[in-house]
Amino acid sequence: MTNEDILKALSNVQEPDLGKDLVTLNMVKDIVIDGNNVSFTVILTTPACPLKDLIMNACINAVKLLVNKEAKVTVNFTSNTSSNRKDAKTILGGVKNIIAVVSGKGGVGKSTVASNLALALSEGGAKVGLMDADIYGPSVHIMFGVRGERPMMREVDGKGVIVPLERYGIKLMSIGLLIDERQAVVWRGPMVSSAIKQFVSEVDWGELDYLIIDMPPGTGDIHLTVVQTVPVTGVIVVTTPQTVALADAKKGIAMFGQAQLKVPIIGLVENMSYFTPAELPNNKYYLFGKDGGKNLAEEFDIPFLGQIPIVQSIREGGDLGIPVMAGDDAIVKKAFTDFAGKAARGIAMRNANLEPTEIQQVAV
Ligand code: ADP
Ligand code: MG
Repeated sequence: MTNEDILKALSNVQEPDLGKDLVTLNMVKDIVIDGNNVSFTVILTTPACPLKDLIMNACINAVKLLVNKEAKVTVNFTSNTSSNRKDAKTILGGVKNIIAVVSGKGGVGKSTVASNLALALSEGGAKVGLMDADIYGPSVHIMFGVRGERPMMREVDGKGVIVPLERYGIKLMSIGLLIDERQAVVWRGPMVSSAIKQFVSEVDWGELDYLIIDMPPGTGDIHLTVVQTVPVTGVIVVTTPQTVALADAKKGIAMFGQAQLKVPIIGLVENMSYFTPAELPNNKYYLFGKDGGKNLAEEFDIPFLGQIPIVQSIREGGDLGIPVMAGDDAIVKKAFTDFAGKAARGIAMRNANLEPTEIQQVAV
């Protein structure tokens, strides 16, 4: 067996999402051959890649079939999270992907989804930050149990910067960490805009694979400020299956989908999809209707990222300040992990296939 033999075999293994083979995509490195033993490393486009097993088996089969059926193949994985920024990186220069979590309606679970998405990506090995852009109704500080805490300041190049708080490995920033929560409620638009700008230019986010932005409900001023201030890689739409929520979700999709706002929609996740009582684990009750979000995604040709059940532990986790992804409810964690894996794949595909991310220059 030679390195060339191995590479030739692996050039038959497709990266399922990107539709090209591993060798063309430069995803194989460190081939070591010792008799019948061969090992190599595959560089994934996201640490949260749910296709690891699939890729591993395909690699093993390719080497055995095409090179040496006696081969003992070891596939190692590492990742280099993809990014597609072509802006000058004067803002959030160390952040590879900026993902806004949006919805039409309030209370559909944006903050819950954003928090647990951040945790699920981090559990997969990614460096993640979570920024609460809901200035009028912040909740990240509550969901992560850091209410009342204040971030530290640090000096960088003679300039004071805010060091984000860190919980469960996630860097956090929320207006609720800077001032009394009740104060911002009366702010006018310009103050809110400047708070958002401060969150990106004066907070020391450092190097991140993903910065998740928990957005306010609807399609307002803050949304425009965000897309005009940072290059948003893509948005994730949250909706419940209920008809009224779906109608509002359509507005959100329309806002980001419109031609002037070239922010791609990574996908849609349906929250509060069904209820399963603990004593009847095989029963699903569709309290808000069945598959409303899924059908909406199909209608608008948006990738569907999954269904999150209504579970008491999700609500309790949010209130207690321990998000479910940091707890031990395996079924709920699986729903969020599957969703996060699909989201991460969607982001990698977006980076591979669409135009580079830009700061939006829309006139309002
Ligand atoms: P939004 O940010 O869209 O306003 P939140 O994430 O704050 O929504 O969720 C609203 C409320 O619903 C919170 O109390 C939260 O704990 C609860 N909640 C959200 N998703 C679920 C779920 N899947 N199961 C149970 N409770 C949920
Ligand atoms: Mg919220």
